[in-house]
Amino acid sequence: MRIGGIEAGGTKFVCGYGTTDGTIEHMTSFATGNPVETCRQVIDYFTKHRVDAIGIGAFGPVDVKEQSLSYGTILDTPKTAWRQFPFLSTLKQALGIPMKLDTDVNCAALGEARFSTEAEKPASLVYITVGTGIGGGAYIEHRLIHGLLHPEMGHITVQRHPHDTYGGCCPIHHDCLEGLASGPAIEGRYHTLAQMLPEDHPAWSLHAYYLGQMTANLLLTLSPERIILGGGVMKQPAMLPLILDETDKRLHGYLQLPKPLHEIITKPSFDGLSGLMGAIALGTDALQAQGAAQ
Ligand code: ADP
Ligand code: ZN
Repeated sequence: MRIGGIEAGGTKFVCGYGTTDGTIEHMTSFATGNPVETCRQVIDYFTKHRVDAIGIGAFGPVDVKEQSLSYGTILDTPKTAWRQFPFLSTLKQALGIPMKLDTDVNCAALGEARFSTEAEKPASLVYITVGTGIGGGAYIEHRLIHGLLHPEMGHITVQRHPHDTYGGCCPIHHDCLEGLASGPAIEGRYHTLAQMLPEDHPAWSLHAYYLGQMTANLLLTLSPERIILGGGVMKQPAMLPLILDETDKRLHGYLQLPKPLHEIITKPSFDGLSGLMGAIALGTDALQAQGAAQ
C-alpha cells in the first residue's frame, strides 16, 4: 500500500507518500498560491505518483467534522482567497480515492503518537507548534479531538509578564498567547528576526514565561502523557529548558507526575516530518474506513 500525505500550510504545501508504517518514500513542496492553482499542483503530483489513499493536515480554521456537508471546507481564514473553499471535496473529485482531513497540528500529534518508538506508545499527546502562529492539536485516548469546532490553543489568554509592555501581534486578540509568544511577536518586540537573537537574549525567558503557562494549563486540563513542542521558534536551544522551568514553577508541585517533566514535554521525534507522517497515518485510516464500509 502506498499512502499519500499533504501538509497544507498557509505559506507552503508539502505533498508526499510512504508506507503505512510512516516511512516517507518521496516528498516535494511548493508555495501556497490561490486555491485553484494550488489544488492543480496537488492533483498533478498525485496523478504522477499514484497512491491508494490520502490524509491531509490543513491550515485552519477548517471544517473537520466528517459528518458535516462542508467537511474539509476552509472557513473564515485571513487568507481571503481560501475562504469557503471546498478543499477536500475538490481533491476527492479529482483523484477519486479515500481521503481524510484534519488540522495540521492534529496531524502532527497523530504522527508523533502513532509512530512513537517508545515501548508503549502514548495514548494521549498534545502537539504545539510555535512558529509564525501558535497552534495545538490533541490526541486524547487514541483519538484526535475536535469538540465543537477544533481547538485553537494558540489564542488562549495568558497572564502578562509585569514588565512586558508589548501590545501583541494577534490581529484578532492582540495579546493572546500567539500575540505575545509567536515568532512575529519577537520581531514586533525586538525588531529583529527570532533566529538572529543570541541564546542568552532575554526574549527567550519572556517567551517561555508565556509558553510555560500553556504547557502547565495543558497538564492541568487534558492531562496528556506527552506535550511535544515544535515549530521554528523551538529551534532556539534555550527555549525548551526555560519552558520546563516555567511549567514547573506554575504547577508548584501540585501534580504527582509519574515521570520527570523533561520526559513529558519534549521536542518532536521526527524533526519537521511529524505533520507529513501524521497525514500518512490519517490516509491509512481513510483506507481502512473505506474497507470497513464495503
Ligand atoms: P510556520 O509557522 O510559518 O509554518 P515555522 O514553524 O518555521 O513556520 O516558524 C517560523 C517562525 O520561526 C518565524 O517567526 C521565524 O522567525 C522563527 N524561527 C525560525 N528559525 C528559528 C530559530 N532558529 N530560532 C528561533 N526562531 C526561529
Ligand atoms: Zn489571538
